[in-house]
Amino acid sequence: MTLGQAQGGAQPRLLIIGPQGSGKGTQGVRIAQAYGIPAVSTGDVFRANVKDGTELGLKVKAIIDAGDLVPDALTGEIVRDRLSQDDAAQGFLLDGYPRNLGQVGDLDAFLDERGEPLTAVIELSVPRDESIRRIALRATEQGRADDNEESIAKRLSIYESETAPILDVYRERGIVDAVDGVGTLDEVFERIVAALTARGITPAA
Ligand code: AMP
Repeated sequence: MTLGQAQGGAQPRLLIIGPQGSGKGTQGVRIAQAYGIPAVSTGDVFRANVKDGTELGLKVKAIIDAGDLVPDALTGEIVRDRLSQDDAAQGFLLDGYPRNLGQVGDLDAFLDERGEPLTAVIELSVPRDESIRRIALRATEQGRADDNEESIAKRLSIYESETAPILDVYRERGIVDAVDGVGTLDEVFERIVAALTARGITPAA
């Protein structure tokens, strides 16, 4: 029995999912802090590698800048390595992975082998115009190379065609909590904590 279970709570093995600009990165970091688990963002891993000019970074830069998806095999390997590290033994929060049905299968295979399935999926919803407004704001603040008009349009369309359908898979498992992503950071965060608490997933003391 793990420490989390011994305390009576379900382990936080979480996925946060939402369109670009939904605030999932920001909320993901807050959730990770509150629950004492690592936030694993594939987008952040790729961006850090591009910035440092690593072999991986050189491989994925053009793909990311164009707003396309990095191949599943490469992305899956990165996630498996990260989730195998000690700090993810008591739980984790995935942000940006899985992003299509193939990746759901890859993640299932990995987690099933460990007998540690996801315990909750937070679906952060914001209307499309709000999402575009937030990305435009981020583009001026952070200057991300993939926050240009063409790439944004492609990423939103990939979200709708490839990523949104994975929610159906998780809905069938009864683990999705739909959270309204419009509001202040605190308001949205409180909604997420309330949804997780209702599942018996409680913040670290
Ligand atoms: P994000 O910060 O999550 O929006 O990710 C930025 C970019 O990294 C995406 O547009 C993709 O090019 C790449 N990326 C991040 N996560 C994945 C993933 N799970 N599968 C494939 N590509 C990804």
